[in-house]
This record gives sequence, C-alpha cells and structure tokens, in this order.
Amino acid sequence: MLGGMQDAQLRVTNIIDHAAREHGHREIVTYWADRTIGRTNWAGIHEDARKCAQALLKLGMTKGDRIATLAMNHAHHLASWYGIAGIGGVVHTVNPRLFAEQLIYIMNHAEDRVLLFDKAFEPLVEAIKPQLKTIEHFILFDGPIDGEGDYPTFRALIDAEDGDFEWVTGDEREPCGLCYTSGTTGNPKGVLYEHRSNVIHAITEGQPDAMNLSTRSVMLPIVPMFHANAWGLPFACAVTGSKMVFSAVNEGEVLCDLVQNEGVTHSAGVPTVWLAMFAHMDATGVDYGKLEMVVIGGSAAPRAMIERFMHAGVYVLHAWGMTETSPIGTIGQRPYNWEELSFDEKVDIICKQGRTPFGVEIRVVDDDGNVLPRDGESSGRLQVRGPWILDQYFQDESGKCVGEDNWFDTGDVSVIHPDGVMQITDRAKDVIKSGGEWISSIELENAAVGCPGVAEAAAVGVYHPKWDERPLLLVVKKDGADIEADDVVGYLTDKVAKWWLPDEVKFVDELPHTATGKILKRALREEYKDYKLE
Ligand code: ADP
Repeated sequence: MLGGMQDAQLRVTNIIDHAAREHGHREIVTYWADRTIGRTNWAGIHEDARKCAQALLKLGMTKGDRIATLAMNHAHHLASWYGIAGIGGVVHTVNPRLFAEQLIYIMNHAEDRVLLFDKAFEPLVEAIKPQLKTIEHFILFDGPIDGEGDYPTFRALIDAEDGDFEWVTGDEREPCGLCYTSGTTGNPKGVLYEHRSNVIHAITEGQPDAMNLSTRSVMLPIVPMFHANAWGLPFACAVTGSKMVFSAVNEGEVLCDLVQNEGVTHSAGVPTVWLAMFAHMDATGVDYGKLEMVVIGGSAAPRAMIERFMHAGVYVLHAWGMTETSPIGTIGQRPYNWEELSFDEKVDIICKQGRTPFGVEIRVVDDDGNVLPRDGESSGRLQVRGPWILDQYFQDESGKCVGEDNWFDTGDVSVIHPDGVMQITDRAKDVIKSGGEWISSIELENAAVGCPGVAEAAAVGVYHPKWDERPLLLVVKKDGADIEADDVVGYLTDKVAKWWLPDEVKFVDELPHTATGKILKRALREEYKDYKLE
C-alpha cells in the first residue's frame, strides 16, 4: 500500500526553480579570471540554465550524456550545472590540476561529448585535444560574448536561445553529476551522483547543525566546483536562497577583498587556502569583516589554524568527507553544552571531525571486521553508509564496492567517541607502524605545524630494522625562519607520546601536493622508502 502523498521526484532542477521563484533577487557574484566583477542572481542563473539546456539540445545532447567542465568557480559554471541536469545530462567536473594523462583517461572513460573550459586552460586543452576521443564540441566558458579565436563561447551560445524551456523530467535516481577521485592506486574512479542524492544532501547541508545556511547567509566557496561539487554548496545555497560569491582567482588579497566587500558570512575550503588569507591579513591588517563561520575539510584542520579563527570569533566547522560521500560524512557543529566549555576544550572538540547528520551512519571495525565500541580509544577502519554514499564506481567492472549491509570502507582510520564525535587518526595507508603499534602521521604533522617557523610538515614511515617503521618528519620552513631539527622535536615533546617523536626531522624546500591541495603522501612514501634514518 502507498501513502496519500504526492509523487514528486527529487530532482536538482526543483532546487533551481525554488531558488529563482523564492529568492530570485539574491545575488550571485563572480570575480572573473580577467579580474572584473560580474553580478547576477538566482533568477539570472535560472534563466541562463534554461538557455544552456536549449543550446545543449541543439548540439544534439540527450539524456544521460556526459558534459565535461574544466573550470574554476564562476556563475557560468553554476548555470551550466543546472542546465546540464535540466536536459537529464550529467555534468562531469574535471579537475584541471590533474596530469595530462589523467585528464585524457578520465574524459575518455566518461565518454564526455562536450567540454566547457575556461580560457586559462586553453593551452592544456590544446595539448590533450588530439587524444580526447569522444568530445564533439569545445566551448569557451568564461570568454567574452563575441568570442575571439577558435572556439564558440558559452555566453554567445546561450544568448542565442530564448530560455523558454521545460526541464526534462525523469526518475530521481537518474544521474546528474560525475566526479573522479584522484585515485591513490591505479586509475581514477568515477563517482556518479544522482538527482536524489544531491537534493537530500543539499537539504541536510543547510541545517543549523550542518552549515547553518539561510537566505541571510553569504557563502564564498573557495573549495573548487571540481572538488566534490564544491562540497555540494551550489545546491545547498540554492535550497536556502543564500547569496553566493565565486572567485575564479584564489589569491589571498582577492579573497579577503571579497569577504570585506560582499559581506561574506560563510566560507569553505581545504586547510591550505586559509594560509594565503592569513598571509594577506598579516601583511595588511585587514580583518574578517562579517565572516561568522569557515568550513574546513579535505584534510585535517591544524590546531593552530582553528585557534586563530576562533580567537577572532570565527567558528570553524571541521568536516570530514570524501568524493564518494557527496561529500558530507561528519560535521563538527557545537555540542549542546558549548557555552560551558573553556576555550581549550572548544578547540579540542573542533580538532575532531564531528558527528554525522541524519542520513549518514558510521562505524569503526578492526581488521577482522568486528565492530569496535564508541569509546574514543578503539581505533579501526572507518565505514560509512547512507543514501548519498557510493555504491558502485562508474563503469567499473569490479561491480559494487560496498561490503555486507552496504557499508563502504573509507580507507580512513578513526575512533568514535561516546558522544558520537568521530576523529580521524590517519589514512589506512599512511599510518606509521612502529613495533606493531600505530603512530598517526596526521597528528604528528598537525602538532608540528604549530611549531614557530614551520610552514608545512609531513610524517612518513621509514624502514627501521628493529621497529619495522619509524617516523621521518619532513618540514618546510617559513620564509626566513631560523630553526633546527632539535627545536621541532623539543616543541613536539609535550604534544605527542614520547615513542611517536620523529627519529629524524629533515628540512625540505617543498612538499608535493595532490590536485586537491593535499600533501601527496604516496609520492613521499615512494621517495623515502629506502631512506636511511640518521
Ligand atoms: P582526494 O584524495 O581526491 O582529494 P577526497 O577529496 O575524496 O579525494 O578525499 C577524501 C579523503 O580526505 C578522506 O578519505 C580523508 O582521508 C581525507 N579527509 C577529508 N576530510 C578530512 C578531515 N576533516 N580530516 C582528516 N582527513 C580528511
């Protein structure tokens, strides 16, 4: 028997219809790559999306087709997401920071038919074009209306349409987005998002105990739209009718100016982006304006960074997730007794990765698959399940990638505290196994970046004849810093267990990073695998 409610499918096009109808005047601001500022609003995005849908149909695109974007954050990118979804298509957000071979692999694997790309990536597109087997149309995304050069522009293409268009409808479980994970082993793998998963993820994201979004919020997502859908924010902010501020340029000065001038209340990005903002603030003395909250995720937020924001009255929402989890897994919102806590207790809480919102379930298991207690001590593999969690990678021959009862193994190592707060202790492959016990490379690194003079740090396990592995700490000094290895070890002495202290601190000029700005541990493990500790 069915109930008595209406059969309304949850599709992302409903989100943009709602935003345009109820919050049509709420602004969408773009700082373009040519350093001009553009302004539209949710009604304008809605219109551009409908025109985009018409233009795509004219190009012969149809339901289920993959349309790739190679682009930074801007209003055209936003409109295209809804336009592509509006013909039942799949927007494939490609990360321009990947290597050429990876870009070629994923666009061929996805069988993309159109590529929308920013002018800044034109040389990259030219270089890989001969090897892109399925792309029929190359369109310049952020170029001028008339277009110069070899490619039609998005603006010209959509402005040839009248916007009189009804969205293509269908089942809510049809796909509408595709994002490949960097792939720590083998080729990148595609995560195929659905209308339904994106809609319920967006509704959840705006909640007070998640990102606390409303029509009064002004959100500047620094996290790129090609990184797990900018963490779903272009959908969540349309649900709540928030103002959005996009920047195609990620420079500290530009971001600080946008925060000041646009009244930004919320922002979101991986830890490294905030360092550029801090540097600009230190140099100029500008403050945080109306900023209330920053979402930090993608890798662990270092304590020193959390303290700096919290001292300035900016709440740090430390979140954990992955491309496979859409990406919200856990969120560090304030517990009920927040006001009773000391500053240090508050920071202790924010250093952890938070609780799950309704919709996500988590558990920690040992190597034999036994479920471990939520005692804050039992450390094991973090597993997760729910309606916006991956079931199966796109066109992957190995089939479903979840275990019994749909539990997806994240590859992260964590503990869960009795109050439900989850704490990542490491990636399974990054833990340093010393004498049968585990040392968390993340904790060592995060403690080390609190040391004066340290800009960045990475801990890797290096072969040791007695203990199997011992930690080597690679450190990049801040410009002009005068520190020795002993200073770093001395600083760490009361921050981590004695047996965790690195056997050697080695200063390096730079550390390798992944396409999403994280330290590339895999490359470091490879480079230092035969390293002889001093
Ligand atoms: P990629 O490796 O391609 O960047 P993801 O962005 O999906 O892929 O990365 C997900 C991983 O990032 C998680 O499995 C986890 O290891 C790490 N991560 C994400 N958020 C946090 C966090 N708040 N603290 C620690 N690690 C995190």
